[in-house]
Amino acid sequence: MLKFLRRHALRKQPFPDAWLDVLQGRVAWYARLTPELQLRLQSRIQIFLREKTFIGCGGLEVTEAMRVIVAAQACRLELHHEPSHFPHCETIFLYPDAFVSTVTRMLPGGVIEQVPTVRIGESWHRGSVVLAWNAVEESAWAEWTGRNVVLHEFAHQLDNGSGTVDGVPVLRNAAAYTRWERVVNRALTRLRLQLSWGNVPIDPYAAQNPAEFFAVTTELYFEAPQVLRAFDPELLQLLEDYYGVFPVSDARAA
Ligand SMILES: [Zn+2]
Repeated sequence: MLKFLRRHALRKQPFPDAWLDVLQGRVAWYARLTPELQLRLQSRIQIFLREKTFIGCGGLEVTEAMRVIVAAQACRLELHHEPSHFPHCETIFLYPDAFVSTVTRMLPGGVIEQVPTVRIGESWHRGSVVLAWNAVEESAWAEWTGRNVVLHEFAHQLDNGSGTVDGVPVLRNAAAYTRWERVVNRALTRLRLQLSWGNVPIDPYAAQNPAEFFAVTTELYFEAPQVLRAFDPELLQLLEDYYGVFPVSDARAA
């Protein structure tokens, strides 16, 4: 109840001019939104920045502009439906650029191996998202590249909304879950087959598991929908129904 009242009060607060300058100058798609959607985004950014903690790593000093640019992109995912405000993400760690993370792997025979891996983003099941600032900044400005690390990691957080990261976000009803499973299973199976033939229609990382498939296809949905349409039109439609808008028509939707 306290959170509800606090969010309600935040929605009534004026959006700081300095934050607006950041949106207008450094977030490419912001200008395409209708005035109504711009206001909606602003109020969600205010809630996001009030509720999440940012921590600079590797010597990075987190500025107001960095926080706004991360928040804008995360909130874009929920701009057209009832927001969850990413309840499992409390802290965002920002590195200046790619960082090394240790991945734990189980080898045959039950041997556990720890492998250092270079990454630009990471989403933890409980509590945090880790991002490389240079990749975040570029993804806000350079549109239609098919890549966006913030959308990728916060898609994992949406996936996490049900309590498990399994490639299935919270959906409307039982029929929606059945449809999701059918469309995604078919598309993922076909992708793995295409990769085994040496054909790479989309980022092969999507073939790792259903969770990465959802995160990678979310990036494509917002940043290269024509690639997703060529890969699987039914999958494109599924994501359009889930996100509530076709990305290039951001400005028309309300
Ligand atoms: Zn991922």
